[in-house]
Amino acid sequence: MSKTVIIIGGGIGGLATANLLQKAGYTVHVYEKNAQLGGRAGSRTINGFRYDTGPSWYLMPEVFSRYFAQFGRHVNDELGINKLTPAYKVFFESHDPITIHGNLKKDAQQFELLEPGAGEALTRYVEEGDEIYQLALRYFLYTDFSQLHTLLKKEVIFKSTKLISLLTQPLHTRVQKFVKTKALQQILEYPMVFLGTSPFKAPSMYSLMSALDFREGVYYPKKGMYSIIELLVTLGKELGVQHHTKSAVKQITVKNGKSSGVVFENGDTMAADIIISNADLHFTETSLLTPTARSYPEAFWEKKEAGISALLLYIGVKGKLPQLEHHNLYFIDNWKENFNDIYAKKNIPNEASLYVSRTTATDPTTAPKGHENLFMLVPLPTGVALSKKQQDALAARCLDTFATAIGEPNLRDKIVSQEQFGPADFKDTFHAWKGTALGMSHELSQSALWRIPPKSKKVSNLYYVGANTMPGIGLPMCLISAEVVTKKILKEHRS
Ligand SMILES: Cc1cc2nc3c(=O)[nH]c(=O)nc-3n(C[C@H](O)[C@H](O)[C@H](O)COP(=O)(O)OP(=O)(O)OC[C@H]3O[C@@H](n4cnc5c(N)ncnc54)[C@H](O)[C@@H]3O)c2cc1C
Repeated sequence: MSKTVIIIGGGIGGLATANLLQKAGYTVHVYEKNAQLGGRAGSRTINGFRYDTGPSWYLMPEVFSRYFAQFGRHVNDELGINKLTPAYKVFFESHDPITIHGNLKKDAQQFELLEPGAGEALTRYVEEGDEIYQLALRYFLYTDFSQLHTLLKKEVIFKSTKLISLLTQPLHTRVQKFVKTKALQQILEYPMVFLGTSPFKAPSMYSLMSALDFREGVYYPKKGMYSIIELLVTLGKELGVQHHTKSAVKQITVKNGKSSGVVFENGDTMAADIIISNADLHFTETSLLTPTARSYPEAFWEKKEAGISALLLYIGVKGKLPQLEHHNLYFIDNWKENFNDIYAKKNIPNEASLYVSRTTATDPTTAPKGHENLFMLVPLPTGVALSKKQQDALAARCLDTFATAIGEPNLRDKIVSQEQFGPADFKDTFHAWKGTALGMSHELSQSALWRIPPKSKKVSNLYYVGANTMPGIGLPMCLISAEVVTKKILKEHRS
């Protein structure tokens, strides 16, 4: 008889692991507390506007292709993955807008026009970033670092001096050596927000992020990001995975260092041979397990950085905004102060750098005819209470700032639909630790081999998958996490 696996949480990591294990011969049940599968990568329709609730950048396309190829599926064809041209547009407080094409030659020419020498510097920065990225793909991403000797490859040893300097130097210090113009520095530094960290804290190895947008390009599935989740679920159903929504797990039952199953909020129980938690790791450890079964008790988390929270605005606008591309960023002059507010001082910022997507640029069906679909993300500190009044005021400030930046002073009057999702919603909806939007941040002490490994240290058949565990935050990273935990389980508990 095949072994039974319970996966707590139907985020991308949980869904992806379920498919891999079901294919390997296990009987897999996914239990998700909410009504919708996908977790942070959800979908909502509000007043005729359709939104991807969280992720909007499809990066690292080869990771998606690799995952689905294991099931004989061609994700690029099935989801209609297209390169966005241009990749994105950046608006500044004190600089003319800059459009990034995702074509290194073209983008280098543009950098060169703004700062002599910056074209060659960008090319070098991106090529070096790509070298790190390829090295990471080969040796550091698809591993749980449990066998460090396997990393002692000639190529890694040869590059170890450079790797150590990339690990110990903050990204901002490295960027400064390549370009001097503040706007260009900001363009090379903003991707740190995707990793829940700051360019003044993140190790320079994350310069690999610029290889993703400048060299590889930014992609988008024809029907939006939620189609990735739909494909994972369809595939799971074909394989025999059993998905259960509105099924919140209340406890992981542990006896003598082994789990026998779970207890649900409604009192029901379910036995299993293997438990995998895709739920927030702080919540899993400090709420689902009794103190003796915790590998990471509260004292562990007190020393860790929860990354960023966010205020999300789902906006519907009457009329057209052709000055916007699909992805848009707005950077304020007080760049460092804004990061300091979020990461160090934990202040609600007065003014903030912003991200805004306009999916109607690529898919007009995401809004009623004659309207635009906007999604705004305002990065915020974690663990800070924000009253409804404060949140409304922040939303209004950010909308006004963005309206000025894009030359649309009456933007607020054109808004016909608006909903917010703030730090408290992250906490309530996903049990997110300190209301984090992304999970544990990617500073050095929480990256690579220092990130939480995919297995409990106290419970022999309890595993973890998702953004808080290795390798980290982001949809492709969670697909990798699914492969890493599956490999570990297959090694330890072959069905
Ligand atoms: C605003 C935003 C923008 C982002 N942008 C991007 C982007 O552009 N590109 C990108 O690649 N990534 C992006 N990300 C990151 C990416 O979305 C996440 O890293 C990824 O979706 C996390 O997946 P996960 O597998 O860790 O699980 P999650 O999505 O965190 O799902 C975990 C699930 O567990 C469930 N759960 C919790 N407790 C229980 C319980 N007790 N019982 C049952 N179920 C439970 C939760 O309800 C949730 O559904 C973004 C994230 C956010 C929030």
